[in-house]
Formats: sequence, structure tokens, C-alpha cells
Amino acid sequence: MSKTIAINAGSSSLKWQLYNMPEEEVIAKGIVERIGLNDSIFTVKYGDGQKFEKVEDIPTHELAVQMLLDELINLNILASYDEITGVGHRVVAGGEIFKESVVISEEVLKKIEDLAELAPLHNPANAAGIRAFKAILPDITSVAVFDTAFHSTMPPVAYRYAIPTEYYEKYGARKYGAHGTSHMYVSQKAAEMLGKDIDEVKIITAHIGNGASITAVRHGRSIDTSMGFTPLAGVMMGTRSGDIDPSLIPFLMEKEEITDVNEMIEVLNKKSGLLGVSDTSSDMRDIIQARKEGNEKAQLAFEVFTDRIRKYIAQYFAVLNGADAVVFTAGIGENSNWVRTAVIEKMSWFGMEIDESKNVFGVEGDISTPDSKVKVLVIPTDEELVIARDVERLKRFE
Ligand code: ADP
Repeated sequence: MSKTIAINAGSSSLKWQLYNMPEEEVIAKGIVERIGLNDSIFTVKYGDGQKFEKVEDIPTHELAVQMLLDELINLNILASYDEITGVGHRVVAGGEIFKESVVISEEVLKKIEDLAELAPLHNPANAAGIRAFKAILPDITSVAVFDTAFHSTMPPVAYRYAIPTEYYEKYGARKYGAHGTSHMYVSQKAAEMLGKDIDEVKIITAHIGNGASITAVRHGRSIDTSMGFTPLAGVMMGTRSGDIDPSLIPFLMEKEEITDVNEMIEVLNKKSGLLGVSDTSSDMRDIIQARKEGNEKAQLAFEVFTDRIRKYIAQYFAVLNGADAVVFTAGIGENSNWVRTAVIEKMSWFGMEIDESKNVFGVEGDISTPDSKVKVLVIPTDEELVIARDVERLKRFE
């Protein structure tokens, strides 16, 4: 038995999950938040409901990793570092280079850093997590699992933009998508739930969390997805605008006297979406509460949010020429019956009908009526498990 750790490093956070493999048993999990800021928060959940938390300044990812490993020993979760034989890192952008998970060499790491152009908020943070583990545990198998890899099966008709070809050829200006690990996992689970082989089914997966994307999956392969060149495109999100007319950018820059285009992109990434429209919060729980209290902006934010999801799902019925199931996953998709109802209730023409007695908080599985031609499924995602499995698989080739 060996232990594998799955890592999801953000710019100021590091989420992790420790597994016994190949049993796929979660031994402990946690998050380090506010890395690089004052009062970083370090949390571990382990055993049968035990929790450890401390607050202190953690200036770098490397120190966060050191602290994490030390605490695993202090809490008797590990006897020594040597028990960990593999680490898997989520990496957001793999560009056209990485079409599947890979063992991380110095050359691979360099390429991940170079791909920061495609995911400026994410790849540098992912690389910082990788470097931190390499520094402390240099000899264990280290694997990168790319958010874009599952979408590498998209055909050119889906990934090309209608812009001059030379921009694609010279600079790789195309759609790459994201959340691929999640879309892959839930589409496979959906096929299992339908009792069918993945090669026989067409599924539309809606990963709706803080970040959100919709994917058309045919026979286990991503055929189209809503995120684009970067994770800014597609449906409306917590703080990201999703699709907008690009002409708005120079227009708004002039009106607001913004001279740096990156500042404008920052507005679209961090101040838009639910937060921008509601003027209240980026968190769906707050939006739902505020709309119940009669907040009209929150009501509109909710309606725009669900409208964009519905339209992408409708598009993908056309891309796939029909579908067997629509899957809801991630923080909002898994937990909000309000959002699921609002999206699906205007789609009866597509052959979908929710059974509201099943569409309750905490539900998993089929929430559609027996007559619903297309099944509506709620499936909790598990990106960490996919990462741990890939580490296990690639260990054999080391
Ligand atoms: P991330 O993209 O950061 O991984 P998550 O998948 O954790 O995000 O999703 C976070 C979102 O899920 C937040 O908007 C949060 O409000 C929402 N969420 C969590 N629980 C609920 C709930 N019970 N009802 C509605 N939304 C929820």
C-alpha cells in the first residue's frame, strides 16, 4: 500500500487530498488559504471527523507544503515522509502540448510555466505547487493532470475561432476549455448510472461552481466546451463575465479611462459574473438568500446565470444531435435545486422534466421523472480521485 497526494494549488491557496492507493481510500484532506498574506489558514480533516486548524503567516507555497508534511506526521497520519510515493498536481492549461497526464520532468515544468499565457491566473500557481513538492520530496513520482487534456479531442470545428487562420497557426489562438478532469469523471459516472457503455452515450455535463463550464461529450470524448482560449469564456460565473462582445472592451476602457487592457480583463475575471450583476456577492448561497429577500439585482443575476447555462445546454443538444442525459456537478450544480430547476424548467421541449420530489438538497443520481426522455442527473465530481488514479497509473512507467 502506498500513499498518493493530489494537489490543487491556486495563487494564494493549496488544496490537497491524501489517498491510500490503489484502495482509493481518502486518509486526510485539507486546504491552506491566504498563502502570501497575513494570517494564513491551515486546515486538515482526517480520521472519523477530526479537524485540525491553525492560523499563522505562511509566506510561500514551499512553506505551506513543508508545514503540511510536518503536520501529517504530528497528527500521526503519516509515520514518515517516505510513505508518500506519488504526488499529482492539477494544472489548468496544457495548451496543444499536453493531451494527457505526464510525469513531471524539469522540461515539463518549464513548459507548464511557459503556458501561463493561456491561464495567467492559474498556471504560475500550479507550477509553484509543483516546485514546492519537488524541493521537499524530490524522489517521488510527480504527475501533472491537465484541465484541458480531456478537451483535446475537440474537432477543429469546435475549437477554431472565426479569426484569421494565421493567428491560430502562429500563436495557437483557439479554444482549449477547462475543468476537463471533472467533465470526464462525471460523464463516465453518468454512463454507469444509465447502465450503458460510455461508447454508446451522449452526455451534456454542467460543471457549475465558482468557475463554470458546460461540455458536450460523445462516446466518452469531449466534442465541445463552453470555456475558451482561457477560462474567462462561456457561461456567467461567480466573478467572471463569460462570453461578451469583445468590442465592449475598448468602449469601456475609454469611458472608464482605463489605459491598461489587463486592468479591464481583471474586471471581467474578478468583478463581473454574479458579483458584478448583483452588486452583492459572487457566492450563489448569498444570491439565493438576497433574491428571497426581494433584492432585484440578485434576482436578475440569478436569471442571467441560469439563462446562460440553459442556452449552452441547448446548443450542445444541437452539437450532439440529441443527448441521453444532462449532468449537474460542482458546488452549485450539486447543491442548488433552485438553479437546476430554473435551468431545466424551460427545456421540456428537449425532453427533460425534473421530479421536484427528488430535486432536494443533498440528492445524488437521477432527479428526472420516469417519462423524461433525457435524464437529469446530479453527480458529485471528484477531480482529486482522477488525479490520484493518474499518478498510480503513471508510476508503473517510471
Ligand atoms: P470552485 O470553482 O471554487 O471549486 P465550488 O465547486 O466549490 O467552486 O463551488 C462554489 C459555489 O458553490 C459557490 O457559489 C457556492 O455558493 C455554491 N454552493 C455551495 N453550496 C451551495 C448550496 N447549498 N446552494 C447553492 N449554492 C451552493
